[in-house]
Amino acid sequence: MAPLDLASLIRDVPDFPKPGIVFKDIMPMLANRDALRQTVDELAAWAEPRRPDIVLGAEARGFITGGALACRLGTGFVAARKPGKLPWRTVSAKYALEYGYDVLELHADAITSGQRVLVHDDVLATGGTAKAKCELVEQLGGVVVGVLFIIALEFLEGRKRLAGYDVHSLITY
Ligand code: AMP
Repeated sequence: MAPLDLASLIRDVPDFPKPGIVFKDIMPMLANRDALRQTVDELAAWAEPRRPDIVLGAEARGFITGGALACRLGTGFVAARKPGKLPWRTVSAKYALEYGYDVLELHADAITSGQRVLVHDDVLATGGTAKAKCELVEQLGGVVVGVLFIIALEFLEGRKRLAGYDVHSLITY
């Protein structure tokens, strides 16, 4: 079967969650079985040569494709979450938003020293979330072997914030 045009299955939702933001909605792509498989295959093709031991995703859409990607790669999956959601002892990283700050947490035993970690999310915007995930990995002695997205909004210059990391996206705007 010819590859699908994944970008055609991503819906632009203007002014969500606030005025001026064009939200990239991947739900139509996830709901299409061929597109979901192709997305996970394409993510895995980039990730595999980097030999990750584990995939790290953040809530919420990073859990969906991150879990599928980990399964496809034959690795485990760990979840970074908003404060107060994880039940065990955690480490945390603070990151800047457009206005103010937010925090992500990871279980303190989620990653072991020297483990090769692939950081994943659906969308790279300003790069703050991904940078915080890289910091969590490094706090626990892990090695970030790649930072992989489905979509990168290049005009927000998130890659600059992730300078020094091996960054890739399947689709670029
Ligand atoms: P950032 O930390 O600015 O790179 O933002 C990345 C996080 O916000 C990711 O978890 C994305 O899922 C979400 N996000 C930011 N901007 C958008 C957008 N325009 N469409 C969909 N998700 C977005």
